[in-house]
Amino acid sequence: MTKKHRRAIGFVAVLLITATFAALAGTAFFLHVSSQNKERLAELNRQLLHRSEMAIDYAVISLVEAMELGATGCGVESRAEIRRLVFQRSSVKDVHVFGDDGAIQCSAHPDARELGLAPASIGPGEPASNRHVALHALDFEKGRQVGVSWRLPSGAGLLASLNIDALFFDILPPALRDRGEAKLMLGDGGTVVARYAPPQPGWEASKDSMAMGAASARYPLQTVLRIDNAPLQSWNMEAQPVVAAVGGGFGMIFALMLLRALRRTPDPVHEIDAALAAGEFQPYLQPIFSIDDKRIVGCEVLTRWIRQDGTVVTPDRFISLLEENGRIVPMTRAVMRKTLKALRPLISRNAAFKVAFNVTPADLLSADFAAEMTELVTQAGVDTHSVVLELTERQQIPDLGDAARKVASLRSLGFKVALDDTGTGHNGLSYIQTLGADTIKIDKIFVDAIGQNIAGSAIIEMLVSLAAALSMNTVAEGIETEEQRAALRACGVDEGQGYLVSRPLPIEEFISLVARGNAAIVPNKAIAA
Ligand code: C2E
Ligand code: CA
Ligand code: CA
Repeated sequence: MTKKHRRAIGFVAVLLITATFAALAGTAFFLHVSSQNKERLAELNRQLLHRSEMAIDYAVISLVEAMELGATGCGVESRAEIRRLVFQRSSVKDVHVFGDDGAIQCSAHPDARELGLAPASIGPGEPASNRHVALHALDFEKGRQVGVSWRLPSGAGLLASLNIDALFFDILPPALRDRGEAKLMLGDGGTVVARYAPPQPGWEASKDSMAMGAASARYPLQTVLRIDNAPLQSWNMEAQPVVAAVGGGFGMIFALMLLRALRRTPDPVHEIDAALAAGEFQPYLQPIFSIDDKRIVGCEVLTRWIRQDGTVVTPDRFISLLEENGRIVPMTRAVMRKTLKALRPLISRNAAFKVAFNVTPADLLSADFAAEMTELVTQAGVDTHSVVLELTERQQIPDLGDAARKVASLRSLGFKVALDDTGTGHNGLSYIQTLGADTIKIDKIFVDAIGQNIAGSAIIEMLVSLAAALSMNTVAEGIETEEQRAALRACGVDEGQGYLVSRPLPIEEFISLVARGNAAIVPNKAIAA
């Protein structure tokens, strides 16, 4: 993927995350405000009911007061008392006296009947929780009013007519006033006794509206609010775009931080490729010496990854990573080229000198491996006889037959092949014969066992005699002491390798070590191994 592609993907990802956050913040705000709006409407409903109950409470108090003062008839004093009460209570429009048959006998207003503001009679009405009190729908020419009656045991009593419409006037908030109605209804029948609706004639709430009701516990009263959904959905939503924008802003910050974090996480393949391009994989050379006199007869190339900051990474940390990501072949080639170029003068002076490279099964089985090796070695101006290819037994070889053919073709071209880490894998000894190599490398674990248990020496002796039987020679690895060297020599091992002579060294140091004279010993030189 090119840098341009990565940038474009990053840009799209930031956009998507920003939009998602904005949408989530906007939706969360909408849901929150919607639920708050519902609560506000429920509160308006409670207020409306409460106002209506209060108006009726005042009417009841007025009627009780009148009766306590004996104003229950149509006499002059009684009517004067009733008029005073009407005057005192603004919501009480009029008070009428009715007989036990329900017929209205007189009203506080002297011309009420003539003006069409007093009913001729009343029925039982809708009973309240107080058994003396009932509510009535009073129909006049000019509209409907609520009547509150107090009935004495005789059946006669007083009736107050109320104007409740006024209580509704400002109940709806301005944003909803044009698109909603409030109603007060009587009893179970739902007779509407008061209503607020927008002033447009014939206004009806749309079907797409929300209704909410509340009922009184004391009076046979219900209130209903019905609001069109359209204004309801935008009610108190002014801040929604701002909230969405802020959500989007947070989303963008989050997305950018995420991208930065992702960019910072090193991508191992990317790192390896950069290291290959920068030539950070460096050959370190460890002498291989004659077991008899420690004369240096060759070397093994052990790769180190020298990072730009100078840190030295050992092969156990990167070889398998390179293999898993298909980069082992180019790395092996690069290290070989560099080594052979640097060692060419040394090899040309000493035709018997051998340079050993580690190759993995992936290297060996790669197409045209033998031809490529030949080309590489020839280009470096080195003879194939000077190059040893070490094939480890630690890694499974997927196709042993193919590997044996590759080994045979390499040997026919002049290369030497060594079996590395012999006896540590799971192949058994027949594998040595099947592959048909030149050299057996005896692993450090057997060298370490010398002097500690009999088995260690016995295995070495067995490998040496097997090598002799197959016309192979032996190299023992990991020799650290003179005692080990003496024991290996006694076993008949040909060559050795180990810190006893030197750790793996950078090429120049290795060359000067050889130049200082064969078998020069550099014990425990402080070089990263
Ligand atoms: P190996 O091929 O068995 O190499 C011998 C290892 O033993 C090296 O470890 C070497 O530094 C270490 N060694 C040598 N003498 C002594 C000694 O006296 N004492 C102790 N304690 N250690 C000693 P190193 O360099 O860490 O390499 C580890 C393995 O990584 C190698 O084991 C080899 O399998 C692999 N390797 C190294 N370079 C390459 C490479 O360029 N290509 C491939 N495919 N594998 C490599
Ligand atoms: Ca090796
Ligand atoms: Ca080995």
